[in-house]
Amino acid sequence: MSGGKDSLSLLYMLVKHGEELGIREVYGIHVNLGLGSYSAESEEVVLEACRNLGVKCLVLDLKSLTGYSIAELAALSKRPPCSVCGVVKRYLANLAALELGADAVAFGHHMDDLLRFALKNLLVGGRAGMLKLSPVAEGVPGLLVRKVKPLYEVYESDLELYARIRGIRVVGSTCPYKYSDFIAEAVGGMLDRIEREAPGFKLGLARRLTKLWGERSPEGVSSCRVCGMPSSGDVCSFCKIMLRATGSPPGSEVRSRVRALAAVLAGGDAGPLSG
Ligand SMILES: [Zn+2]
Repeated sequence: MSGGKDSLSLLYMLVKHGEELGIREVYGIHVNLGLGSYSAESEEVVLEACRNLGVKCLVLDLKSLTGYSIAELAALSKRPPCSVCGVVKRYLANLAALELGADAVAFGHHMDDLLRFALKNLLVGGRAGMLKLSPVAEGVPGLLVRKVKPLYEVYESDLELYARIRGIRVVGSTCPYKYSDFIAEAVGGMLDRIEREAPGFKLGLARRLTKLWGERSPEGVSSCRVCGMPSSGDVCSFCKIMLRATGSPPGSEVRSRVRALAAVLAGGDAGPLSG
C-alpha cells in the first residue's frame, strides 16, 4: 500500500467484505522509500488504516534493507526514479507475500488507471507492456505469488467517492518525483470524452481487454542467478539496479531480513512491524 486512496480503499474492501469474498486473512505491505516527509506521511496513514481495521502490516524500509533510498538508487544506477521505484516495489511485494505464505498479492489499480496505461502501451510500448496489465497473473509456487487487481472494473470517480464516504485518511503530500505523463493524460481525456457520450464505454473496453488477455500465465519466468527470485532473464531487474548502483551483487540479506520480519509478524499480535 502506498497510502493513496486506491490501495487504502482496496484494503477496506478486502477486510469489510473478506468473508463474502472467501478471504481468510489480509496482511498489509508497505515499502518506505526513504523520500523524506512524503515517505514518513505515507507510512503513517498506511499504519493508521491497518490499526483501524486490525490488519497486520509489514513495513519494509528500503534504506535499512538495502542501505539506499529510492533517490540514491536512481542516482547511482542512472535510471529514472519512477522506474527504479516500480521495480523495487514489485520485487519487495512479491518477496513479502512469499515469506508471509500469501495465496495472492492484491494491487489497487482501478479501471481508469489500467485503461490509460493499456492504451498508452498500445501507442508506445507494444504487447509486452499491455500484457502486464492483466487483472489476474498466475504465480509459480515458491517463486512468484499470484497477482490480482480486484478494482479492475471500478471507475476512479467511484473509488474517490468510496474513500470519502468511508472517511479514509490518505497521504496529503505528493511524491517529489511525480511527473505529468502527457500521453497517459491525453489518452485519459479521450476516454473520458467517449464515456460522456457513451456511458459504460470504459467498462466494456476493460472487459474486452480482459478477454483478449485471458488469464495470464507466467511464461518464461525463471529464477535470478543472483538472488533466486523470479526473472525473465538471467538476472532480475532488482539485482540489475543494485549491481549498477553499488558495483557488487546484493547478498541474501534482503531476503533473510524480510523472512525474519514476516515470521515475527505472522506469529505476533495485530499491529505494525517495521524493519
Ligand atoms: Zn535478483
